[in-house]
Amino acid sequence: MRMEETRLLRNRQALTRLNRALPEIFPATVLRHALERRWTPPMPRLAVDGYWRAHVIRADRLSRALAARSGAPKGWTWRIGAKGLPATFRAPPAPYREKKYSLGPGFCCVCGQPVYRFGWHADLWDQGPNRRAAWHTACVVAWQFWSAPSDHDRILRRIQARRCAQTGGRLWKTAEIDHNVPLFQVWSERRDEPWPALLNYWGLPNLRAINRDAHAAKCAEEATYRVRRRKDTADSAPPTRS
Ligand SMILES: [Zn+2]
Repeated sequence: MRMEETRLLRNRQALTRLNRALPEIFPATVLRHALERRWTPPMPRLAVDGYWRAHVIRADRLSRALAARSGAPKGWTWRIGAKGLPATFRAPPAPYREKKYSLGPGFCCVCGQPVYRFGWHADLWDQGPNRRAAWHTACVVAWQFWSAPSDHDRILRRIQARRCAQTGGRLWKTAEIDHNVPLFQVWSERRDEPWPALLNYWGLPNLRAINRDAHAAKCAEEATYRVRRRKDTADSAPPTRS
């Protein structure tokens, strides 16, 4: 059988399954997206997942907006390295992922808001939170974007109309994704900024595609800055007794 025939047959079967499983209420934009896809998702859950994967920037924005609704838990500060905490400052700060501040099942561990059916962020079904869920589907996608923005370089290039964010020149194929304010600097100088505004440093507001040579020059500058900063900190520290 030719590939195209296989696809049409598979899509027909998937559509039958999807229609059977589809509840009366379902986000219209998600359904539209599902029906336009090359391969029809056979389950509503997969339709939601596919929707957010195709709209990474929207997921990033939504996740940060939901987190703003929650705010940081009382007493929380961004810490790393200890047991149960992220190992490095490169991981996005996520208070609700920490055991001490976890809100339990039915709440998203990224943004702290209730999770509803199909990992949706609004209770379209009036059924209350889904007690078996701990992530919004949008927040899963946002988290992946924050953790590995280079995987989404195509979107970032498109947003910048294929211009290098550093030089303004044409963006080459070898361009790289850069954090405008480097994450080491966020950790060393801005870590007391309130959460979730901190997340902006991992999201779109702080991400840009720049050409490799511009990136290398920026990284070299950053390395010099780090050394100087470390030296300054050491100089200003009280003398240690030998
Ligand atoms: Zn969430």
